[in-house]
Formats: sequence, C-alpha cells, structure tokens
Amino acid sequence: MGSLGDASGVPGASGRCVSCGKELTFNEIGATRKFVNRAAVSFYCRDCLAERLGVDAALIDRKIQEFKKQGCTLFV
Ligand SMILES: [Zn+2]
Repeated sequence: MGSLGDASGVPGASGRCVSCGKELTFNEIGATRKFVNRAAVSFYCRDCLAERLGVDAALIDRKIQEFKKQGCTLFV
C-alpha cells in the first residue's frame, strides 16, 4: 500500500529506479534481474544500471536484445 519501492510479489509490477526514481520499464526490471540478481527486489533504470555495472548504457540495450532473441522471459 504505497510503501516505497515495494513492487515485489506483484505480477507484472513496475517500479521505480532505486537510484534516480525514474519509472521503470519491464525490460529495465528484467535487466536488473539478469545482470545484478535474479531475486532482486529493488531495480535500476538502464542508465543507473549501466553506471553501477561500469558499462555503457548502449551495451545494456544490446544485451537485452540478445537475451530477447534467446527467448529470455525477462524481456519483451
Ligand atoms: Zn535510475
């Protein structure tokens, strides 16, 4: 009930980036799960995730496309 950053346990829930507060897309949530922790409950937007991982945001995009092609259900 509006508790901050708690989008866990809600199917298809979106959330907000824990770093900058930006509203997240399904793929950004998937990316956090994929690149940080499969069981993550707090998520990063693409830019903050890239910064956190020390990579270019474009690389995150590319990886998402790759995983999509492999049929990964974390991405649409
Ligand atoms: Zn962010």
